[in-house]
Amino acid sequence: MLIGVLGLQGAVSEHERMLADCGAKTRRVKTPEDLNGLDGIVVPGGESTAIRKLLVRESMLEPLRDLVAQGLPTFGTCAGMVLLAQPESLAGIHADVERNGFGRQRESFESDLQVTGWETPFHGVFIRAPYLKSVSAPAEALITLDDGRIVAATEKNVLTTAFHPELTGDKRFHQYFIDEFVKATTKTA
Ligand code: GLN
Repeated sequence: MLIGVLGLQGAVSEHERMLADCGAKTRRVKTPEDLNGLDGIVVPGGESTAIRKLLVRESMLEPLRDLVAQGLPTFGTCAGMVLLAQPESLAGIHADVERNGFGRQRESFESDLQVTGWETPFHGVFIRAPYLKSVSAPAEALITLDDGRIVAATEKNVLTTAFHPELTGDKRFHQYFIDEFVKATTKTA
């Protein structure tokens, strides 16, 4: 199993380490050719405008958007969630995204999150995080805060979190991506 980590900007090596800890091989994706033969891809956090510009510059925006549309298992965190929710970027999830949605006072914060079916909460690290105001089918909210903001959501082959699981010691989100998205797809392929 080979999982790419989009390596143009942002928290790249942290994702690679987490995926390796889960037993996956990783490839840093910097050119359109690097997209070939992947079983899944992570779009990391960073700065979504910068990552989008680099995707355009490297002629990767359309190829990656096509792969996502064709069903490549894709995990976007923070800026990755923004790019996946923007129709003009990766268009991977039907959701209305608010960039930097927590405002200045709460630029960065941490919060324990309840995930349905998980025994203990997941520690969410939010850094100038987006949130989803709403999702529409076939997208589904995975984690909704008490105030209604959606901070994790899925759609078919796409998993997104507004927070940074790669900055915790907790592998559960990466393992969830591998088990429920990558392995599920590989089995039926
Ligand atoms: N605010 C950033 C953006 O919209 C995302 C921040 C992050 O990825 N930590 O691109």
